[in-house]
Amino acid sequence: MKLYNTLSRKLEEFTPIDPNEVRMYTCGPTVYDFAHIGNLRTYIFEDLVRRSLTYLGYTVKHGMNITDVGHLVGDGDEGEDKMDKGAKREGKHPLEIARMYEEQFFKDEAALNILHAHEVRRATDTIAEQIEIIKLLEAKGFTYSDEFAIYFDTSKLPDYGKLSGQNLEDKKTGAREEVVVDILKRNPQDFVLWFFTRGKYEHHILRWPSPWGEGFPGWHIECSAISRTLLGQPFDIHCGGVDHIGTHHSNEIAQSEAAFGGPLANYWMHGEFLLINAGRMGKSEGNAYILKTIIDRGYRPLDYRYLLLQGHYRSQVNFTWEAMDASHTALTRLYNAVLELQKTAKPDTDSVDNVEEYHEKFRAALSDDVNIPKALAVVWEILGSKLSAQSKLNLLSNFDSVLGLDLEHPPIVETTIPEEIKKLAHERDEARAHKDFAKSDELRARIESAGFEVLDSKSGTVIKTR
Ligand code: AMP
Ligand code: ZN
Repeated sequence: MKLYNTLSRKLEEFTPIDPNEVRMYTCGPTVYDFAHIGNLRTYIFEDLVRRSLTYLGYTVKHGMNITDVGHLVGDGDEGEDKMDKGAKREGKHPLEIARMYEEQFFKDEAALNILHAHEVRRATDTIAEQIEIIKLLEAKGFTYSDEFAIYFDTSKLPDYGKLSGQNLEDKKTGAREEVVVDILKRNPQDFVLWFFTRGKYEHHILRWPSPWGEGFPGWHIECSAISRTLLGQPFDIHCGGVDHIGTHHSNEIAQSEAAFGGPLANYWMHGEFLLINAGRMGKSEGNAYILKTIIDRGYRPLDYRYLLLQGHYRSQVNFTWEAMDASHTALTRLYNAVLELQKTAKPDTDSVDNVEEYHEKFRAALSDDVNIPKALAVVWEILGSKLSAQSKLNLLSNFDSVLGLDLEHPPIVETTIPEEIKKLAHERDEARAHKDFAKSDELRARIESAGFEVLDSKSGTVIKTR
């Protein structure tokens, strides 16, 4: 199997450290709010990596953290702790917020058929392990401190930044936008290991004693501690979104390698971003959609998973409601095709078919840097082939262990109309009664873009599923 390794910037043959078990770590959510659909793209990418490895015969051990302290609004060391921000927004304690959104994240995972990590650990449950690493770094001379924080001194590590390919000189001259010059730091790319609850963090709610004084950990140290605790060091594959390359993952590597004198992970895989209408998604743009936005518009969560299966993880994917419509239609066709096959299939008829050709194509796609779009094309090829219904069903259920689309138990396509859509139909009737045809047309377009048909009848708007 070939995987693209960000560290070498090359496709590499994958060789696990222990042939009997692949150890894989993914950076988990910061649980201060709902995960947006961009975040969810990254977790689906990681799920596809894990499922592909399993399909190809590896046993995978998957570890993940939950960030419930220390991730500041800027991924560097600027701004408020995101947990405090969430707590203030909702008038609750940061840990109450953390548990609420952690639970919500697990629900999103289940709805999208993202396999839950075998081991999940919270940052707040591993403070002692984080302190141990900081102590080691201090003993080895990689830290310095002032009254506000303990910092990692990146100038002590000649290959700092090797993951992003940017050397220290580039960063010193400010080539990287995200490096914020902080007068307290010796080098702009140095980062905080431990914040003291003084100065701007005087009122930080979550705090722990440490050998250096009361405070809370910086964001990056939790992943060094948790990955080591769950998987050992080095482990095989470390995943995350592309935005983690320059700061978060570069800093994880720096800490773990400096403390323990060896690599943290052998393969670094990064998923590209989800764009919305070809632009950035974010709260300020008003398009930070969450899974509920998709469900409220009448789509199935797996319509979104299907949308993502059509793009390679190293390419940006552009989210539009038209693309969601197309995914809904394609997945419904797929479900209907499986339901038809189930009606006509006769067990024991597959022995005459040569199915190995399709297995081989599917395996080849996964082995080619987890090429899911290519693997998905094999599904449609099978449906159009001359294979018996039973052979087709066997292949589809086998492939679904990677695709995760519930193809073995396709839903009978939803015939009930969601409340939200019924409300829009009612508003449309009112607009028509007031002869406001512009508004009525706009409401028709909204109902249709959610995948429903609009018919006019004597008694008003009638909605049908497509
Ligand atoms: P966070 O909860 O902020 O720690 O982020 C969770 C994950 O979402 C990280 O792996 C990010 O790299 C990833 N991420 C953030 N924005 C996007 C986006 N627009 N598209 C894809 N992944 C993203
Ligand atoms: Zn991490």
